[in-house]
Amino acid sequence: MPLLDSFGRVADDLRVSVTDRCNLRCTYCMPPEGMPWLPRSEILTYEEIDRLVGVFMGLGVHTIRLTGGEPLARRELHVLVEMLAARGVPDLSLTTNGVLLAEHAGALARAGLKRVNVSVDSLLQHRFAEMTRRDALERVMDGLRAAETAGLQPVKLNCVVVRGTNDDEVVDFARFSRETGYEVRFIEFMPLDADEAWTRAAVVPSREVLARIDAVYPLEPVQHGPEPATMWRFRDGARGAIGVIASVTEPFCTSCNRIRVTSDGQFRTCLFALEETDLRALLRDGATDEEIADAVRAAVAGKWAGHKINDEDFARPKRSMSLIGG
Ligand code: SAM
Ligand code: SF4
Repeated sequence: MPLLDSFGRVADDLRVSVTDRCNLRCTYCMPPEGMPWLPRSEILTYEEIDRLVGVFMGLGVHTIRLTGGEPLARRELHVLVEMLAARGVPDLSLTTNGVLLAEHAGALARAGLKRVNVSVDSLLQHRFAEMTRRDALERVMDGLRAAETAGLQPVKLNCVVVRGTNDDEVVDFARFSRETGYEVRFIEFMPLDADEAWTRAAVVPSREVLARIDAVYPLEPVQHGPEPATMWRFRDGARGAIGVIASVTEPFCTSCNRIRVTSDGQFRTCLFALEETDLRALLRDGATDEEIADAVRAAVAGKWAGHKINDEDFARPKRSMSLIGG
């Protein structure tokens, strides 16, 4: 039986956060001093994550993306990848800031990782350093090349667009996509920053991003599956592609197929969910796989219609992005 909610949506895409820690301090995500890290004892072990993934696969989940915090900040991530690959996860991928990717791409690919999404918010060294509070663009670029060489393809870039900060670079990113073949996905800034500095004025609507690119490099839509990104290719046949994730201005909640497990084993049915289901307690209290599956089914059945960013009664979740796993 697939994981069905009361609105008829099927949840088959799971994001698993493997750590809350990170080696960058992106302004739209974390405060400069970082967060109080969770005690290690609260973080799921690889064995616990592997068992949960087995339960989720039994419930029809076929896409697993590892995330964080920064997943490569957790030691020996390739060991977890190998465990999950051995389960035959059909689509196993990773979201990373890319700083440590050059060192790990080969081992990850050999362990069975299929693809990576790398977050890059600026192609300018000084601006990258301002936005992430670390001077690491060169290492990230090395990481992109290493991923490609290791066969972690297609390489996709995630770029959070913030008004007045990096929105003047969207055409440069499109050019970079054409030159490298990397797909670039522009993400709208969401109210999930730990500093709570988000304002609506800082959101650059995806429609505006597309219009700016289309004026220089004409675009045409690409048919795509259930994923939240809408995809575009260059009309002149150049390689590369553009995706936009309009979570704020054009929410895709009605077709959302995503669910999440945080690094401390809390199950969330939405990025913005205000409630969680404690799978870690079940794991550690000796629950059977069937009992864990029942808890997941019940939580998914109660998934809400959608986030309320655009409603008056919007309430931020207690966790900010790095504690959820984007
Ligand atoms: N550290 C890894 C990285 O940056 O790719 C993985 C975790 S990060 C939380 C996952 C994604 O969430 C990244 O692409 C990041 O840019 C995005 N993100 C973080 N805070 C965000 C926010 N407030 N609004 C939109 N996207 C955000
Ligand atoms: Fe770290 Fe990713 Fe958050 Fe940036 S977006 S601070 S890289 S978790």
